[in-house]
Amino acid sequence: MVEIKVSDSVRKKLLAFRDRNKKARWSRDLDPIEKQYNAVCLWADIGGASYLSFDGKGIYHNFDADEIIFLKSQVEMNQLLIYGSEKCPTLKQLLPQRPSDALECQSCSGRGFVKKDISKAIYKREDAISCNVCGGVGWCAT
Ligand SMILES: [Zn+2]
Repeated sequence: MVEIKVSDSVRKKLLAFRDRNKKARWSRDLDPIEKQYNAVCLWADIGGASYLSFDGKGIYHNFDADEIIFLKSQVEMNQLLIYGSEKCPTLKQLLPQRPSDALECQSCSGRGFVKKDISKAIYKREDAISCNVCGGVGWCAT
């Protein structure tokens, strides 16, 4: 399992983001995963939902299997933060700093995203799937 440090200032903004989401879905309560793991839902689709806990764990809830999966790698964590930052930009602060000797990711040519056929239909843009090699940051540590 990978864990990141969530600073107090980011935690405060995430709490505000979670409160706004709660109001947007007309709920007075947190969803069960948010409640159980003290987390915030960052995005969800028909197959599952992704969360960041306030103690820095990435969590995926697979709806079909009703399975909770803790993110295991920094690449998965990068993907969670990149997707989550579309709705909550403060998450970008939690991405790792690019080391000076990092190399541009060859899989995505440093863009962080790769083209997939389904991207346009689902996400209304052609390059919305984050890169599985760098997780969307566009570089790889040496
Ligand atoms: Zn990449």
